[in-house]
Amino acid sequence: MPPDARLPRTRLSVPAYIDGVRRGHRATLARAITLVESERADDAAPAADLLDAILPHTGRARRIAITGVPGAGKSTLIDALGMHLVRDRGERVAVLSIDPSSPVSGGSLLGDKTRMARLAVEANAFVRPSPARGHLGGVAPRTREAILLCEAAGFDTVFVETVGVGQSEIAVRQMTDCFVLLLLAGAGDELQGVKRGIVEMADILAITKADGANREAAARARTAYAGAMHLFPPAPDRWSPPVLTTSALDGAGVPELWAAVLAHQAGSDASGQRLARRREQAVAWLRELVTIGLGRALTRDPAVADINFDRPDVSVVQIEPAVDVGAADDNAVR
Ligand code: GDP
Repeated sequence: MPPDARLPRTRLSVPAYIDGVRRGHRATLARAITLVESERADDAAPAADLLDAILPHTGRARRIAITGVPGAGKSTLIDALGMHLVRDRGERVAVLSIDPSSPVSGGSLLGDKTRMARLAVEANAFVRPSPARGHLGGVAPRTREAILLCEAAGFDTVFVETVGVGQSEIAVRQMTDCFVLLLLAGAGDELQGVKRGIVEMADILAITKADGANREAAARARTAYAGAMHLFPPAPDRWSPPVLTTSALDGAGVPELWAAVLAHQAGSDASGQRLARRREQAVAWLRELVTIGLGRALTRDPAVADINFDRPDVSVVQIEPAVDVGAADDNAVR
């Protein structure tokens, strides 16, 4: 049974979803994301229709990944950064926060903690936690579609917050333009579980909690990481990832972090890297949709359902599933 099967059905009509999302109506946007995240078979067609309809209105937002181990300060920093954008810069900000639900218990590592308390109540912000449900170790199965919905709703920036556990970084990098890695001062790399490969993927590094007694340690960590970054081969567009210090507590370094994001974006626009990255991402997305579609078609096929895989003589299965891969648009780069 899908996790939401016991909830009352409160689906809107597809035109109502489209209209609400396009008008930037946050409650409808939240419900639209629920629809595309749904694993119910009867939600697949309306979800695909909704995505088809909004696709021409997507692609314009900055897509920013914020990652780091639990406790690195991701939510607190996104709250501060989001407030800076909304209040000081008059922008509209969406946050897709991936809740690393345990696939075993179905519970959440984060418990009942209130996340992004200031930003969540801002009229020009949208904060949405989504369960990862064990998919790719920290990215929700439908995060990419949720990004598109936020873009269609007119948000200027979409943050995707993930927990740094390895594979999720690769997945989230495949959906964003800029990858910000948060690091704690004073903890060794092993301690933080940050692998060299992840540091290498980062477009921007920020040493968090650079305040109070931790200020000096943060400055030292910054120097160490800045030195280490020179050892990596240069990015294709010669972007050299800056290492910053930030404090979400007193706000120090927060505007600088945003300036670094904008500089990275300007550089990758000028070099064509952003478009190239999005093209690659569109291909990867299509591939993923095909894989998901094939898997679903396979498991729903009555011929497959009837097979007893435990029988020793079942080795080769011949079936022809009717494949529906949903709203894949192979021409569009969004
Ligand atoms: P996340 O798990 O990466 O999202 O981390 P949180 O944002 O929940 O922060 C973990 C803990 O660090 C919380 O107790 C925060 O209050 C604290 N924290 C976060 N940012 C800062 C900061 O800039 N300075 C200080 N001193 N504490 C912080």
